[in-house]
Amino acid sequence: MEKKIKLKGSVNITWIGGLIVLVAIGVTTGVSWLLYEHTVSLLTDNLRQRLLSIAITQAANIEPEDIEALQNEDDWQKPEWAKVVNRLKKAKDNNPNIVFMYIFRKKSSDPTQMEFVADAESINPYVNLDEDPTNDVDANGDGKIEPDGADNLQWPGQDYPEPPEETFEAYNGPLTNQELYEDAYGQVLTGYAPIKDKNGNVVAIIGSDIKVNDFLTVTRQTLYPFLSFIIFLVSAIIILSVILIRLWNKRVEIFAEVDRQKDEVMSIVVHQLLTPINAVKWTIELLESGDTTLKESLIIIQEQAKKLESLATAILEATRIQLGRLPIALAPLDLNEFFKGILDTISIQAKEKKVKLVTSVPTSLPTVMLDGKYTQMTIENLLTNAVKYTETGGRVDFTVKINKQIMSCVVKDTGVGIPKKDQDQIFGKMYRASNVAHSNINGNGLGLYAAKGSIEAQGGKIWFESEENKGTTFFVEIPLKIAE
Ligand code: ADP
Repeated sequence: MEKKIKLKGSVNITWIGGLIVLVAIGVTTGVSWLLYEHTVSLLTDNLRQRLLSIAITQAANIEPEDIEALQNEDDWQKPEWAKVVNRLKKAKDNNPNIVFMYIFRKKSSDPTQMEFVADAESINPYVNLDEDPTNDVDANGDGKIEPDGADNLQWPGQDYPEPPEETFEAYNGPLTNQELYEDAYGQVLTGYAPIKDKNGNVVAIIGSDIKVNDFLTVTRQTLYPFLSFIIFLVSAIIILSVILIRLWNKRVEIFAEVDRQKDEVMSIVVHQLLTPINAVKWTIELLESGDTTLKESLIIIQEQAKKLESLATAILEATRIQLGRLPIALAPLDLNEFFKGILDTISIQAKEKKVKLVTSVPTSLPTVMLDGKYTQMTIENLLTNAVKYTETGGRVDFTVKINKQIMSCVVKDTGVGIPKKDQDQIFGKMYRASNVAHSNINGNGLGLYAAKGSIEAQGGKIWFESEENKGTTFFVEIPLKIAE
């Protein structure tokens, strides 16, 4: 069963990373919102200044004497009325966002109340009240003509119902209302400026209402690309963070796997060391108790010492391969003698196990430049494995061919085969396939690792085909250089 790797580090980084991303989103959203609000408020202040300067300029344009002349309803027929209203109208028309421009003052009879003096649209304050509806004007410019004076045309001395607080404050100096307010036009801001006589006394206040919808729309339109960019940046940061977290987790996973493999290798090595050591201990005990002879004991001890030596050598070779320091020494090698030596050893093993060994090796082979030690180790290991992993009564075929300066060796057996799921890892260090790892067939999983290392170090290739319970075929190809 495959071991599940525990990823303590990766769990933490996922949580911490997730938290950082969330905080980043929160902070960025908050900061963007504050920036947006701040920019809107800056631009609104700007608008206030503009509105104030319009109100102040217009207030300076109105003659206080004209205001004094307009006291009662009947005064709308005086020339001063036409003069004042036309000035207001002109100023209003020059500023397309201004929806009302009007003059009012404290009532002389009750200074806590206000009355209108004039309005930009009120050249004929009764036009909407006469019998003939075709005369009606859209005094407030909202696109609709309300019946019976509901378009609010003012005449001198008309009550100003429920004047806002700012209308009184404007007696002390120009100001705008603090908050935008809603009316039929949408959001509106009003600027007030006092009209003073030559003694500096305030005779009336000029009010100017400006529509801010367009302004707000423009402001938003200006800010939206900026906000979109921030959203894009935040998304990019999130995506990058997710990628980084994943990469990090992958690394932690790899480290954990390497760690696990190290532990596994360590436990195999210890296990393999303990087997001969126990055998030696056990033999010495037998000798002490007089159950065996010294000669027999020495033979066993020598065998176990050889096993220890070969294990130590195998581990050493594996370490050299891993470090890329395999001491390959090319020297003239007579291939006839080479294969004869190997097959002498293997035929003994095959005979002992009653496995049929069929060889096909050309009778006259050249002398080539090869590393004898590592090449022998490889071919011997493949043949030993073939015999080792083939049941008694099975068969091993060994074929050697040389074609275009490439020597190919094929070792085919009818043995236990290598399960599909292990095939990718079979050349790994100390890897033993699942079908033999816990069997009584001895092995340390270093042979194929060393074989691959030594063949590749000489520019060759090694691969295999295998089917579980049917058999395995190993292929080796080594480029040859004929010895002088
Ligand atoms: P070992 O000492 O275990 O034989 P090797 O490195 O030589 O180590 O081989 C690694 C593993 O490959 C073996 O443990 C075995 O599972 C598998 N293997 C190698 N050769 C054969 C074969 N001819 N038939 C079946 N399995 C094989």
